[in-house]
Amino acid sequence: MAVLHHACAVPLARAAARSRSLSAVAAPAMMAGVSVPSKARESRVLIGMSEPELQQLALEFGQEKYRGKQLYHLLYQRKVKDIGDFSHLPQVFRNNLQEAGWRVGRSPIYHTVKAADGTVKLLIKLEDNRLIETVGIPVEDENGSVRLTACVSSQVGCPLKCSFCATGKGGFSRNLLSHEIVEQVLAIEEIFKHRVTNVVFMGMGEPMLNMKSVLEAHRCLNKDINIGQRMITISTVGVPNTIRRLASHKLQSTLAVSLHAPNQKLRESIVPSAKSYPLDALMKDCQDYFHQTSRRVSFEYALLAGVNDAEEHAIELAKLLREWARGSHVNLIPFNPIDGSDYRRPYKKAVLAFANALESHKVTVSVRKTRGLDAAAACGQLRNEFQKNPLVVDESEEMEFQPQAAVSC
Ligand code: SAH
Repeated sequence: MAVLHHACAVPLARAAARSRSLSAVAAPAMMAGVSVPSKARESRVLIGMSEPELQQLALEFGQEKYRGKQLYHLLYQRKVKDIGDFSHLPQVFRNNLQEAGWRVGRSPIYHTVKAADGTVKLLIKLEDNRLIETVGIPVEDENGSVRLTACVSSQVGCPLKCSFCATGKGGFSRNLLSHEIVEQVLAIEEIFKHRVTNVVFMGMGEPMLNMKSVLEAHRCLNKDINIGQRMITISTVGVPNTIRRLASHKLQSTLAVSLHAPNQKLRESIVPSAKSYPLDALMKDCQDYFHQTSRRVSFEYALLAGVNDAEEHAIELAKLLREWARGSHVNLIPFNPIDGSDYRRPYKKAVLAFANALESHKVTVSVRKTRGLDAAAACGQLRNEFQKNPLVVDESEEMEFQPQAAVSC
């Protein structure tokens, strides 16, 4: 059976408000006597727009301002996917929007895989036929209330090729646009008929290589879909100069850094991109991030049997954190097996010994429970294995979806 193997990460705080200049009309088109906003943005997609922007859009189409509020409601609460179905809006407004090239920006679900534990992996087919994976992870607490985490992708594939991650093995196609990130959360809400309470940028891709769209999506998730900044986590393996940039946005969200090794030599052998971003420089940036935002960075550590899971590694990790990031939390992720990898998942005993060694050195630690293993939806397993080019749907072939990867958060 398929496994949803998924990596879910960090919170973003207030994203830089995207300034969509609706008034910057290059060549106004005239429709039904109304001046229509022209190519003021690269794409005329409604998802991702704020309430004031939608009000402005309504005005520019000769409508009353309150029509923008209605649009806002239709997009984010009613989750209507097609402008033609905006039945609350005048037909002429709907027609004008469509004729001017506007669209909602929701994509079809290409495939859904449900794991026995309730985790659901969605394959979303983008406009250019590329596929991305999104995972919904429901958790019921002791009071019976449900926390629903959406593990979202930020890129189609990933260029960073961490040695144990299935996504990197599938190659890289492109960055996601902000609405393509937001729509993943809306799709999860729709499937579960429940609001998403937490978002982790731990799906396909490296969020810090697509910071602009990630920040725009963060703004929308926080302000328009009402997900608290502290409920959002952004996970990065580390990209030079980006942690500082992120810090300048002073988000209240969590930054999670994927460390996976306590020293440069071992890290380089697991994470190839570490060669151009030495561990000391990464840790210094994490320290500065804390000083600038007052938000502690948390650290992810994938445990690979016989590679980085010895107690000496834990002790060395504790020392590293004491030096650079005292008080930080470590999230251990026992390796989720992927095809074509010689890495092994450590035994439970080794995981506990590692966790205990960290705790005895005053590092708080949690072990990530693997979710969705029977739906290929666990961390690092987000990869579409069922096509010649794993990231694009070939419309000429009727393919059977046989997820081999797992997604877990
Ligand atoms: N690029 C980002 C987000 C990607 S995945 C990052 O590296 O942080 C989120 C987490 O899942 C990362 O910590 C990643 O290292 C981890 N992960 C990837 N593949 C995994 C696997 N097969 N087993 C366990 N964890 C994995």
